[in-house]
Amino acid sequence: MSAESLSSDLQQSLTLLRRQLHAAPELSGCEQHTAATLLAELQACSPDRLFTGVGGHGLIALFDSGRPGPTVLLRADMDALPISESGSQAHCSRHPGVAHLCGHDGHSAALMGVAKLLSAARTASGQVALLFQPAEETGSGARAVLDDPAFAAIRPDRVFAFHNLPGYPLGQVVVRAGSFTAAVQSLIIELEGCPTHAAEPEHGRNPAQAIAELLQLAQALSCNHPERPDFALVTPVYAHLGERAYGTAAGEGEVHFTLRSWTQQTMSELESRLLSQLAAICERDGLKARHRWIEAFAACDNQADAVALISKAAAEEGMSCVTRPMPFKWGEDFGLFTQRFPGALFGIGAGETQPALHNSDYDFPDAILLPAARLLYRLARSVTDTPNPNMD
Ligand SMILES: [Zn+2]
Ligand SMILES: [Zn+2]
Repeated sequence: MSAESLSSDLQQSLTLLRRQLHAAPELSGCEQHTAATLLAELQACSPDRLFTGVGGHGLIALFDSGRPGPTVLLRADMDALPISESGSQAHCSRHPGVAHLCGHDGHSAALMGVAKLLSAARTASGQVALLFQPAEETGSGARAVLDDPAFAAIRPDRVFAFHNLPGYPLGQVVVRAGSFTAAVQSLIIELEGCPTHAAEPEHGRNPAQAIAELLQLAQALSCNHPERPDFALVTPVYAHLGERAYGTAAGEGEVHFTLRSWTQQTMSELESRLLSQLAAICERDGLKARHRWIEAFAACDNQADAVALISKAAAEEGMSCVTRPMPFKWGEDFGLFTQRFPGALFGIGAGETQPALHNSDYDFPDAILLPAARLLYRLARSVTDTPNPNMD
């Protein structure tokens, strides 16, 4: 069989798989059938080790050359979103209110392409671990995988993942050394005072002033200048105060924020300034406060030499490659991997007219499945098969 017909077979099988995943989307943490579909395909690729149920419904397939060398981990996410799809393709979501509108179906299918390429030809040395990760959208999957005892067996020397990028030309590779995506997390603050007659507020403890000051603090702490390294956004997303009872001064309330920054350090500073101010306000006003952090995404911190490997592999695959001047404002839980292991997240253009991620009419472009798989395969080999003096 010629190389061209092999490629077209692979493109066809990846497209089929991608559409199959797209038609049966599952929410974060519920990826049971998605995992079963991927597992069946992976088994046909005869990996040397296969781990299931990693961090929930995650899968890791390990392809071992049998010769010593570095281990490279390639990761794809596999969960869908609680949004109704408005497209009209034959492979549209069959699950009402749930759809693959971030392209994780495509990321998983592309990674399956790497499994098929490794099944045909292992690397010359080292190992390649393919991770199909659950629950990316809620920011909990990466941590669950990293905390899973099965993951301890992998010990990657380099980690890579890609996200498709609507708005960029189809198949264009997008890289950036340093921060690639923002650190993001949300904060819930609940305040408890004491209700009283609205005519006699001096006899109660109303959290209204505290909430007003916290909303102003959010504004004061924000520096919405993405070109600056100290970029920070504290966005109020929800607030509540008292009841619709007009003779009563409010006795409780809550306020929720989503925080974004380019670095973990800025994020830590935002955290401590918000919480110390909260403590001071509560002390002054005699309020009790409870707070919770949720949906945390660590900043993706791309290592410069990992980014150089991506650019080199893209050039060798004949893919155009651009450097992004500033990070993306969205969060990606692959950030947690880059906080622990050297590596990088990069983008692959999904087409300039493609609807934005999480839009109801978004659909992953099948045309980039094979290029993405080939790029990832080449990238893996550039780590495992090339002696790298910089590697520690
Ligand atoms: Zn998403
Ligand atoms: Zn995504």
